[in-house]
Amino acid sequence: MNHEDLRLWSKRAADWAADYHAGLRARPVRPDIAPGSIAAALPPAAPEEAEPMQAIWDDFERLVPGGMTHWQHPRFFAYFPANAAPASMLAEQLANAIAAQAMLWQTSPAATEIEMVMVRWLAGALGLPQARGVIHDSATTATLSAVLTMREKALGWEGLTRGLSGAPRLRLYASDQTHSSVDKAVRLAGIGQENLVKVATDTEGAMDMVALAGAIAADRAAGYLPIGVVVCAGGTSVGAFDRVGAVVALARREGLMSHVDAAWAGSAMICPEFRGLWAGAEAADSVVMNPHKWLGAQFDCAVQFLADPGPQIRTLGLRPAYLETPGVEEITNFNEWTVPLGRRFRALKLWFLFRAYGLEGLRARIRNHVSWAAEAAAALAAVPGVEIVSAPSLSLFSFALAAGDTATEALLARINADGRIYLTQTRHAGRYVIRVQIGQFDCTAEDVRMIATVVTELSR
Ligand code: PLP
Repeated sequence: MNHEDLRLWSKRAADWAADYHAGLRARPVRPDIAPGSIAAALPPAAPEEAEPMQAIWDDFERLVPGGMTHWQHPRFFAYFPANAAPASMLAEQLANAIAAQAMLWQTSPAATEIEMVMVRWLAGALGLPQARGVIHDSATTATLSAVLTMREKALGWEGLTRGLSGAPRLRLYASDQTHSSVDKAVRLAGIGQENLVKVATDTEGAMDMVALAGAIAADRAAGYLPIGVVVCAGGTSVGAFDRVGAVVALARREGLMSHVDAAWAGSAMICPEFRGLWAGAEAADSVVMNPHKWLGAQFDCAVQFLADPGPQIRTLGLRPAYLETPGVEEITNFNEWTVPLGRRFRALKLWFLFRAYGLEGLRARIRNHVSWAAEAAAALAAVPGVEIVSAPSLSLFSFALAAGDTATEALLARINADGRIYLTQTRHAGRYVIRVQIGQFDCTAEDVRMIATVVTELSR
């Protein structure tokens, strides 16, 4: 296959994509296939000889669409969304065609400069003063970068050279509602799982401030070295929020860095009326939110805003001879802000997204999702035997059957075998509960009403 062939097949792929999206509602959200069935349909080894593209295409159509969970399905209400607005898909096609590495300004000047401007646009849209930052692949990487920076700042940048042996025991604080990416970060940063202090939350799901202050004081008395606090702004399980301003202020008073994880909920902050939920994020050292979740920028796109990028660059930046560039004082080489060296041109899809829908268009979707989630929770509360376990936090709530965990688990299995909607579970308040999040880019009020229809039918 050469570039002329690519021209033809790309057109065919564009048509296929349009038909695929137009036909999504007619498909079950999740495929009804047995584990191993796709792998069993593939030959055991790569072909020695080139194959015609038509044969490859036919196999794609035969095996892939029917073997996928359809994340862009309008009735995907599981996990969190991974929205890919059509304009962002178009930008991805162009970025794929250019196929550049955005690691240094000189390897991708437009990618670097559009990234700087998109971070500024997004900060403005969210009401954040931290107008500098970087686009990572995922919130997990952003949080790891923040935790590595906390570690190094606390150790006076000695961990980078000497390692951690001989260093005091480091301690990081986060609520028991934070995402497992924080656990991963302490493991990978050499801090260790035992040194992530999971502070208890109160009845509203917010970190207990007295417990946080007490944990820091007790750790200091024990000779440990506190390094920072990760603030939960929209937990994955049921959408818990810490009192962001209070946690960030306490961290500041204690001389600790703060990192706000708003991977999911951050998108809602383009609507001024929701910003009270993370009031105080403006004072944090670092904030991460994922435009690739709710906003509509195709995966992957996690934006980390930094009050001062200096400490993170000092932690992650390396300049071997083969990466030296002239004019380094005036330019930004984004690889120095991130874990990997190579970087995709991710800013293009944000540029297309903002312009193709406008902030008002994006806000309208989020406002719809939040109000439809309230309606769906009210509709489910009226279904006999169903209890709302966590009330909507933005567009996320959970429910269970009064009959108990086993019955709830069996109901979820029936819902997902049915295929009209897709939901997933979590544990909350000691119970097995079913999460419902409303956030699909193309979903309608009617799609959301299907949740109550399906639950009513299948819980009888
Ligand atoms: N933080 C929160 C609150 C999340 O919900 C998630 C994923 O759902 C993450 C972090 C990790 O996101 P990513 O998949 O971008 O690493």
